[in-house]
Amino acid sequence: MHWPHARIRRARNLETQERVAAARRDNPESEQWLGLLEAALGENENGAVWEAAVPSPRPAAERPVKAPLLSDVQMTVDGRAARGWVRRLLTLAHPGNARRIDGMALLEAAVCHDDERLDALARAGGMEAPALRVVAQMAALPLLQACTRRLAGELPPSWWEGYCPMCGAWPVVAEYTGLERKRRLRCGRCGTGWAIPVLRCVFCDETWHENLGYFTPEAGEQTHKIEVCDTCKGYVKGFTTVRALPPWAILLDDLATVPLDVVALERGYRRPDRPGYALRAEVVEVGGGRWSLEGWFR
Ligand SMILES: [Zn+2]
Ligand SMILES: [Zn+2]
Repeated sequence: MHWPHARIRRARNLETQERVAAARRDNPESEQWLGLLEAALGENENGAVWEAAVPSPRPAAERPVKAPLLSDVQMTVDGRAARGWVRRLLTLAHPGNARRIDGMALLEAAVCHDDERLDALARAGGMEAPALRVVAQMAALPLLQACTRRLAGELPPSWWEGYCPMCGAWPVVAEYTGLERKRRLRCGRCGTGWAIPVLRCVFCDETWHENLGYFTPEAGEQTHKIEVCDTCKGYVKGFTTVRALPPWAILLDDLATVPLDVVALERGYRRPDRPGYALRAEVVEVGGGRWSLEGWFR
């Protein structure tokens, strides 16, 4: 039988392959997460399917100033390809339950970063909620990164919020690149980067220096730090890098620096549970057809 969407693609980019292999070596406990990320990075190279789904953002004049570019958009995806992709991920995460979860619903909830909807899908599909949240994070990655590739030029020229101007997520890292060492936040979902002043909390906009600080390791890696805010108890990792991380590498670097998370958590800091901005976006199938061959041939 012809089974076009059954196979997991591996990334062809050599640098990606090497980074994933190194992450595997160093983090054997994260094998399942890495397997899903590896699948997402491979799918990310399947650009045409996802780039065709990149929406037209609402004109700036109609968008609230604080709304990310992807708020209130409609993304029209190739339903067969999208469902196939989500099913492959679900099969990796939880063989046996993949058919009980609607791929399009999952993709939409994932793009919107809507954990309540995801948890409801998990309950309906007989899957653990945390496991489905990870699947959702990876499921949305190829679509969101395609949006960044195509729409980065349409981002507002100045952005004052701590959350991603493209997709509304909180940043995973703050990057300090080049000689100027300007602070640039990076989104782990869509890969977007945006500038924000050093003395300002990403999460609660605190600017009083006495309430902001950072930890660095006592020895070794001075290129990594943990930036914390004592007002909201939030933290974000800070990396000094020679060049900006490619979008696909952000989550790999996040994994590679889990010891920083441990330090932050031990000191009572945390990453917020909720996204910075609850995106309202619709993910629909090409043609909007309600008829599909779901469950018959695949
Ligand atoms: Zn983003
Ligand atoms: Zn804060």
